[in-house]
Amino acid sequence: MTGIGTTAIHGDDDLHPPGAVSPPIVQSATFGAESDERFTEVATQVRPDAFYTRYGNPNHAQVAAVVAELEGVETGLVTASGMGAVTTIALALLSAGDHVIVQRSTYGGTTSLATGLLTRFGVTCTQVDQTDVDAFARALTPRTRLLLVETPSNPLLELTDLTAVIELAHAHGAYAVVDNTFATPVNQRPAALGADLVWHSATKFLGGHSDVTAGVVVGSAELVDRVWQTAIVTGATLGPIDSWLLLRGIRTLPLRMARHNDNALALARELEAHPAVARVRYPGLPSHPQHDLATKQMSGYGGVFSLDLAGGQPAAATLLAELRLAKRAASLGSVSTLVVHPRSMWAGIVDTAQLAATGIGEGLVRVSTGIEDTADLLADFTRALDAVAGQAG
Ligand SMILES: *Cc1c(COP(=O)(O)O)cnc(C)c1O
Repeated sequence: MTGIGTTAIHGDDDLHPPGAVSPPIVQSATFGAESDERFTEVATQVRPDAFYTRYGNPNHAQVAAVVAELEGVETGLVTASGMGAVTTIALALLSAGDHVIVQRSTYGGTTSLATGLLTRFGVTCTQVDQTDVDAFARALTPRTRLLLVETPSNPLLELTDLTAVIELAHAHGAYAVVDNTFATPVNQRPAALGADLVWHSATKFLGGHSDVTAGVVVGSAELVDRVWQTAIVTGATLGPIDSWLLLRGIRTLPLRMARHNDNALALARELEAHPAVARVRYPGLPSHPQHDLATKQMSGYGGVFSLDLAGGQPAAATLLAELRLAKRAASLGSVSTLVVHPRSMWAGIVDTAQLAATGIGEGLVRVSTGIEDTADLLADFTRALDAVAGQAG
C-alpha cells in the first residue's frame, strides 16, 4: 500500500484507460453491449460500471476505489449526497422492529433520519451522550442493529471513543457505522478500529471546493454490496460530472487537510485567549475535555472548531457581520473559510426541542477553516472579535 498522497493520485489508475492522464468523464446514462449474452452478464453484475449509471459508472468506480483505499477497506460506492449515503445505509441494514442508537450531538440530518423518518417504518431510536461509552451500553437492547457514530461531531466537536463503542456494538451483534466527514481518512481511519461502514458527506472536505454535493460509503465488499442493492432502489445517484469533480477534489485532499489542520489549530489556540470568547471547542486543544482521546484515535485534529461567545447571539451576529475573509455559509470543508451560527441555521431543519437537547448554545459559532494564509485568517478573526468585545464593553 502506498502513502496517502500517492493513493489520492493513483488509487484509480487501473480503472481508466491508459493515455489520458485525467480520467475521461463518462457522461452516459446507459451502455451498449455487443450481444444479449454479454448484456445479461453486465446486468446481473454487482456494482457494474458499464450497464446503467444508476447501477454504476466508471467515474463512480474511480472515486470509490480511491476513498476505499484511503480508508483502508475493500470497496465503496458513491451517492448523490451525504444524506443519500446514510439513508441508504439505514434502509439497507434495518427492518421494522429494529433499534438504532444515535448520538445526541450529530449532524441534524442524521438526527432527523433516526428520530423521524426511520420511526415511521417501525424502527425505534435512542439518543445518547457520545462522550459517555456507558451511555451506549445502557441504550443497547436485544433489537439494536445499528450504532450511528459521528466523531468529531457537528457542530460541538464532541468525540466518540471509536475502539470502545465499536467493540460494544460487535459484542451485541450490531453494526457500527461511522460518519468520518469531519476527520477525513487523512486524520482518522475508523475501519482500522473495526467500523463496519464508513461514510462521508463528500460535499465537505473530500470534494473540498464547495462546488459539488456528494456522498461516499466504504467498507467490506459484502456490506457495500448490500448497501448498493438498496442504492439502486433509493436512486440517490451521483452524476458522472459531479463524480469527476469529486475525484479532482480528492487528488489534493492530503495537501489540503494538512493546511486545514494547521489553520484550525493556530486559530483555536490564539482565539482561546480572546476576551470575547468564553470557550473554544477543538479536539487539538489541551483544554478540550477529550484531548487525550483525540490524540489516541486521530493523527490530526481537523479543520473545524467552534467558538462559544460570551455575549451570546448578539455577539455571534456581530462576529459574522464583521468577518471579511470568512464567509457566512452553510457547509464546511471548503478551501474558503466558512462560518455559521448553528442555532439560526438549524432552526429550520431540526425542531426546537431537539435543538435545545443538542446543547448548541445561542453564542455558538462554527468555524470551518479554509486554506488561506494563517496570518490573514488570524487578523480577520482578531479584528472581528475585537469589535465584538468593544461592543460588549
Ligand atoms: C454535511 C454533513 C452531512 C450531510 O451531507 P450532505 O452532503 O449535505 O447530504 C452529514 N454529516 C456531516 C458530519 C455533515 O457535516
